[in-house]
Amino acid sequence: MFPGSFDPPTLGHINIIERSLKLYDRLYVVVADNIAKHCLFTADERVAVLRDIFASSHNIEVVAYDGLMVNFAREHGIGVMIRGVRAVGDFGYEFELAMTNKQMMQDLEVLFMPTDPNYFMLRSSQIKEMAAFGADVSRLVPRQVVELLKTKGDMKIKEN
Ligand code: ADP
Repeated sequence: MFPGSFDPPTLGHINIIERSLKLYDRLYVVVADNIAKHCLFTADERVAVLRDIFASSHNIEVVAYDGLMVNFAREHGIGVMIRGVRAVGDFGYEFELAMTNKQMMQDLEVLFMPTDPNYFMLRSSQIKEMAAFGADVSRLVPRQVVELLKTKGDMKIKEN
């Protein structure tokens, strides 16, 4: 499984998903539906856009989940959780998260996949900020996300 917020998905996420499929036959992309974390896009929107991006990949299942990711893993018999790491800063956070998850689920393996150098500066928050100010993000996200961002980006600008 590859869990995350994907608010919105970027080419960095897509790259991790595509590389994960070289290691595993099937992959759950699990969209965290976490009310404590304020997202620009609803879980339904994030799931829909990921499903659209991977419409032709039959070995990827995109689902939303509003509980602990270890519970999702247990419920679906998943043994490996993949997380992407961009820089040393990411590693500290990811390591603590892996320790917490491992404490809750002993037999879960967490795999850290280093980002592709093309995407090491890329994060969802940066995309939202750029889009809100009308910057071109088409080289940083899939075209489906560009379309989705247009509506929300415009809304944000109007609000300000
Ligand atoms: P979360 O809120 O769970 O961190 P994100 O959507 O921000 O959700 O990230 C999901 C996973 O994707 C995390 O492991 C994150 O480190 C990874 N990730 C995000 N952006 C990139 C990128 N540009 N390259 C590689 N991994 C990334």
